[in-house]
Formats: sequence, C-alpha cells, structure tokens
Amino acid sequence: MQQTCSPCEAWTQFLEFAKAHTSLSAFHNWLSPIQVASFTDDKIVLKVPNIFVKEYLLSNFKKELTNFLPISEEGEPSIDFVIEKQDRKPKPFFVAPSPSIRIVDTKEEQEAAAFESQLNGNYRFQTFIEGGSNQFVKSAAIGVANRPGDAYNPLFLHGGVGLGKTHLLHSIGHHIREHNKRLRVQCITTEAFINQIVDSLRSKSIDKLKRYYRSSVDVLLVDDIQFLQNRINFEEEFSNTFETLINQHKQIVITSDKPPTQLKLSERMVARMEWGLVAHIGVPDIETRVAILQFKAEQKGLQIPSNVAFRIAEMIHNIRQLEGALNRLSAHSRLMNASINEDFVEQTLRDLFHLVPKDKITVDAILKSVASVFQVRVNDLKGHSRTKDVAIPRQVAMFLAKELINESLVMIGASFGKTHSTILHACKAIETKVSSDEMLRRQIDMVRRNIDMQRP
Ligand code: ADP
Ligand code: MG
Repeated sequence: MQQTCSPCEAWTQFLEFAKAHTSLSAFHNWLSPIQVASFTDDKIVLKVPNIFVKEYLLSNFKKELTNFLPISEEGEPSIDFVIEKQDRKPKPFFVAPSPSIRIVDTKEEQEAAAFESQLNGNYRFQTFIEGGSNQFVKSAAIGVANRPGDAYNPLFLHGGVGLGKTHLLHSIGHHIREHNKRLRVQCITTEAFINQIVDSLRSKSIDKLKRYYRSSVDVLLVDDIQFLQNRINFEEEFSNTFETLINQHKQIVITSDKPPTQLKLSERMVARMEWGLVAHIGVPDIETRVAILQFKAEQKGLQIPSNVAFRIAEMIHNIRQLEGALNRLSAHSRLMNASINEDFVEQTLRDLFHLVPKDKITVDAILKSVASVFQVRVNDLKGHSRTKDVAIPRQVAMFLAKELINESLVMIGASFGKTHSTILHACKAIETKVSSDEMLRRQIDMVRRNIDMQRP
C-alpha cells in the first residue's frame, strides 16, 4: 500500500484493521497496550509493556504491518520497539469496557476466612532469578501482578517439574497482596480444590463454597491443573467457577506440567485456558542455573567457588534438585567441617550427578529444532552452503550443541563433520551476534524451548 499518511495515522489504521481481524480479547490483551512512542517518515517507534507483545505483533501481523507502516530495505516493517518498565502502567488505547474488580463486603470476608490460602513466603519475584529461559514468563507474571484482571486473563504457565511454576504463582499472589491490599487472592492447588469440594459435599456446605469462589475471590491462583484430568465432576465445577470469575474480569492464573492442548480435559476447558496468555517455562541455561545456585548458597551463608558452582549447575538442570544438592552440601560440609571444592562435590553429589540424563539431547534433535525455527532443511544444515540463510542457523546449532550436550568439543565437532575449532568459532560468532541481535536471541530461545518440549 502506498504511504499516504504519517506512520502514526497508519498505525491507527492498522489497529482498526487488526481489531476487525482478531478476537476482542486478543485485541485488548495484545494490541491495546501498544503505544506510539515516536515516528518519522521512515520509522515508527512503539512502546510495548513487555517483549511478549512485540513477539505477538510480529509473529501474527508482520505481513499486514508492511501494508500499513514504512518498510525497511529488507522488506520488513520498519519498527523499533521500546519495552516499557514493568512498574509503570501503560495506558491502554481503548479502555476495556470491563467493570473494575469488585471489593468484597464484610459478610463475604467472613465466609472467606474459612478458605484461607497460604502463600510460601520465600516465593517472591525478588527471589526468582531471571535468565533467557524464563524471562518471558517472569515478565508475563509481573504484568499480571501489576494489572490483575487486565493484562492477560487467564495466564497459563506450563513447564516441567521443579522449574519455578509454583514460585511464580505465589510471587503473583504476594505482589498483588502487597500492592493491592483490598483484592482477595485465593491460591490453591488443584488437589486442595477437589478436597474442598468433597468436604463441602459431605458437610452439605457446597453452596457456601460455590458462593465463596464466585463472589469473594478477586484473584484465583490454581496450581497443577493437570490433577483435574479424568475428574469430570470436578472439572465441571472448576469450569463454572472459572467462567464466572473471568466474566467478572477477575484474574486467573493456572500452572500445569503440560500445555492446555495436551491436557485431557474437555475441549471447552482447553479453549478457555488458551484465552489469555499461555507461557512456557523452560530449563534455565547454565549461566542462570549458576546464578540461582549462588543466590541460594548465599542465602544459606554457604561459600561455593565459581568453578564448583559451574560443575554442579552443569550436571543438575532441575532447580528443585539443585536446591536438594545445595542442602546436602551444606549439611555435609558442616558435619565434616570440609570446604566445598570439586572433589567434595563429586563425592557428595555422585548419585545426583548420575541421575542426570546426559544423552537426552542429541545433535539430531537440535538440528531438527533449528531447522523448524529458521525454516531451513536439516540437510542444508548438514551441508556446506555458506549462504547467510543457512550458515547462521548452522552456527546456532553448533552453539546450542555446545551448550546442551555434555560432550567434548571434538565429539560435538565430529557429529557435525567439523573440527572442534569450527565449533568454537561458531559459538563465538553467535555469542557476539546475539548481544546485538534481539531477533536472533528470540529465535535461539525458541529452539531451546522446542527441544525442551520434545524431551521425555
Ligand atoms: P514447579 O512448581 O515448577 O515444580 P517450584 O516453583 O516448586 O517448581 O520450584 C522448585 C524450587 O526451585 C523452588 O524452591 C523454587 O524457589 C526454586 N526455583 C525455581 N526456579 C527458580 C528461579 N528462577 N530462581 C530462584 N529459584 C527458583
Ligand atoms: Mg509446583
């Protein structure tokens, strides 16, 4: 389309177009929070509340954006993004026609006391260490905590065991309680929810329970929704509660060990869970694991030299196990009055190190995942072409192989039919590139997540 108006007007036109082509809730969740920060004839700068919004915009509307906005030499929409700090609330373009969250009255408050929920005092945003694999999900959680009922609803967090889902869920609860004292936060595991229903049926107080959930809760945090699978009667009760709350624009956050589509729940329930934002929490990369380990060690007053921390983090990927390892090291080192060095760690954690599956990620899995994210063929990645389209993804595969596979560079090189110095060169090249190329960083994160999801 010929540019006949300023990029700012073009943006407004794009929004009108997008509004007609998406659901209202997707529009409000994703596009409304975007603001035009500045524009010139050949570029527009958009302010987004977090990187998710940028990703959503580019992955869903890139082609359409080129019809409305200035285009770069590469044929891409010419947009710069600035991410607005989380603590400043972005003003939405359109004020959602939602009633604001209702404050409970005294009678309801009294009833609520019977269903008091517990938040773990240690699970806070401040103690959740951020890295490439979890920064999206953390920023989504902060977004929800800052604007309950207004950002993404529901927020659905999924990922493997021990990767911080419960930690983030409780962090949202703490944050809302601290910043929004009048909102009633109910945090509950799915099992406890089921037990409450069973108990209240037995004591003939089910109506009271229903009333409580449907009118005395402003924010519902539900942990481990996978336990609702194959519990049809409870699913129905949950589904009714869910819909009542969401229709009143009350915030719901759900955690699960699988994405909604893989849960054995009714289609309706799955669709509801996908309404808002579905965010995956992956295995943190090695640097983040080291940072988590050092942080937790410090909290315990434990000194761990960095080479030792690196060794532990290299071998243990699950954060809960990492904490277990730390507890054991702490106890043993006190008991034996020994300092924590490499030998001590190898001895104390030998069995844990053994537990870690070293052969789960293969070069083939990495190649497949890189090929699908970068839209190239696996055979091209294995080949010798030096065109940029293939050479960069190939280097990404090498970079990830070094990061994810517990083998020497020589062995990794051999799997690619290259020498170890080629692998090293590729790693350096990618490290340099990602520091300035955000798109590439996002693509690499996607490959990591992709591989992660394929792991048993
Ligand atoms: P999940 O619910 O996903 O199984 P949890 O939230 O229970 O995992 O996390 C397991 C343990 O690991 C908790 O003690 C939590 O504090 C810790 N943990 C997980 N991720 C992080 C992180 N990014 N920073 C700090 N601690 C973390
Ligand atoms: Mg959990």
